[in-house]
Amino acid sequence: KSGFVAIIGRPNVGKSTFMNHVIGQKIAIMSDKAQTTRNKIQGVYTDDTKQIIFIDTPGIHKPKHKLGDFMVKIAENALNEVDAVLFMINADEGYGRGDQFIIDRLETINKPVFLVINKIDLVHPDQLLPLIEQYKEKYSFEEIIPISALEGNNVNHLMDVFTEHL
Ligand code: GDP
Ligand code: MG
Repeated sequence: KSGFVAIIGRPNVGKSTFMNHVIGQKIAIMSDKAQTTRNKIQGVYTDDTKQIIFIDTPGIHKPKHKLGDFMVKIAENALNEVDAVLFMINADEGYGRGDQFIIDRLETINKPVFLVINKIDLVHPDQLLPLIEQYKEKYSFEEIIPISALEGNNVNHLMDVFTEHL
């Protein structure tokens, strides 16, 4: 079995660092799910029974004022082709306009969205709960998973969560 996960989030939240934990495996099984070349594969995670293919969705990362309707449409179409969305934020930064831009896009798709709070190594555990509460008000996330992509904390748990859902 294989599943496609779009990875989205503002610049510098740690998307590439996270991918370094899962890159290195080739795609073993070609999924029959609709996929187009506009979706760039960033990395593949495999275990005994499953592969999770992480997809970059160009256009949705950059909340530029002049981002045209056409580009927004492309990004939304890309999101429609995946099984789930990984929305990464930085635990060390609060909620920001860039996040609202992305959440507005999420409203238009009907896919489970997993909020991944990265860089938990930078914050006191007491800071985490208010952040979680804040984001819970913004969107109905499938699950909220705190990780440290740099130190690897909870990354395996995140993969287990995806494996359960895909
Ligand atoms: P991207 O723009 O979302 O791909 O973010 P990057 O993966 O390039 O990371 C941006 C910066 O954040 C880099 O300096 C990373 O080393 C740092 N970073 C990423 N993940 C973590 C983390 O879990 N903890 C800490 N402390 N730094 C991180
Ligand atoms: Mg990057």
